[in-house]
Amino acid sequence: MEELIDKYGRKINYLRISITDRCNLRCRYCMPEDGVELKNHSEILSFEDIIKIVKVGQKLGVDKVRLTGGEPLVRLGVVDLVSSLAKLKLKDISMTTNGVMLAAKVEDMKNAGLNRVNISLDTLKKAKFEEITRRDYFDKVRAGIEAALETGLKPVKINTVVMKGFNDDEILDFVELSQNKNVHIRFIEYMPLGGEAEEEYFMSSGETKELIESKYNLVPAVTKGNGPARYLKVPGALGTIGFISALSEHFCSECNRMRLTADGRFKPCLASNKEVEIAKTMTEKDIYKAYQRALEIKPSAHHLNFADNDKHNRKMSQIGG
Ligand code: SAM
Ligand code: SF4
Repeated sequence: MEELIDKYGRKINYLRISITDRCNLRCRYCMPEDGVELKNHSEILSFEDIIKIVKVGQKLGVDKVRLTGGEPLVRLGVVDLVSSLAKLKLKDISMTTNGVMLAAKVEDMKNAGLNRVNISLDTLKKAKFEEITRRDYFDKVRAGIEAALETGLKPVKINTVVMKGFNDDEILDFVELSQNKNVHIRFIEYMPLGGEAEEEYFMSSGETKELIESKYNLVPAVTKGNGPARYLKVPGALGTIGFISALSEHFCSECNRMRLTADGRFKPCLASNKEVEIAKTMTEKDIYKAYQRALEIKPSAHHLNFADNDKHNRKMSQIGG
């Protein structure tokens, strides 16, 4: 089988699909208060096109997909999309969601074929949640996490962006959550990607780990995933903790992913403005060519830094994380 292996020897087998730019939250580090300029329906990939793109990817070795956004659960028919993806017999279908609509939809998503879910939550305090997200949906997200656990989706991961002086006082509370519930907390370094990016908020994974280790002796743990997080746990805990250190420790040399934007472009690296538009005709040949071109321009590493925060052509909410 032909494979997607780039000039740096990295094999691409994981496609992250942003299915919408829309979102029901406005997280300060990700999306402006007024949202982003929304595309017309005709500019957004149809589910049919997404399936075509995944099918061509499969022929090239892509066997894992993740739905993201914007907020994937706000797109109408998302359950049908998961059903269609499930028919392709991929190894893994996952989703990253803010959890607001999860309690209402997780059962249907699981029955359609979703394997697992990552839920974003940066604080365990209602008022602070509203400050970060500019919306009053904290209770819905907590209910979404419980619903995901109840359906038996495994693993349930929680994405927590750590911000110094803002939610670092809750790091140990999140660790405690991993002790009491079968959830996997991923502490994510704050990335300057077009949102309100204040460098003083940046806290490295090393600092976060040090803070946790001032209280706990962590031991290695195993959690299923396709990405760069390394997992540890408090002995006896039901869940685990992991660190995603995009800035302090590049994991680019192990990158196995390609991103597809809602408007039909391959984005080989989340931090680079280079993209490949897939021809509107969406023939198998066009899609194949776009995969190959995207592979050619995938950079060896990213150069994310706070000084260039406003130089990105897309906000994080238009890339999907
Ligand atoms: N709306 C969904 C959600 O929030 O989970 C999916 C899209 S969101 C862009 C994907 C992930 O990117 C979330 O976990 C979010 O916390 C993370 N993210 C967004 N902006 C970020 C930033 N500036 N630095 C680090 N992570 C960020
Ligand atoms: Fe929306 Fe997710 Fe961005 Fe928050 S992080 S604004 S929930 S896309």
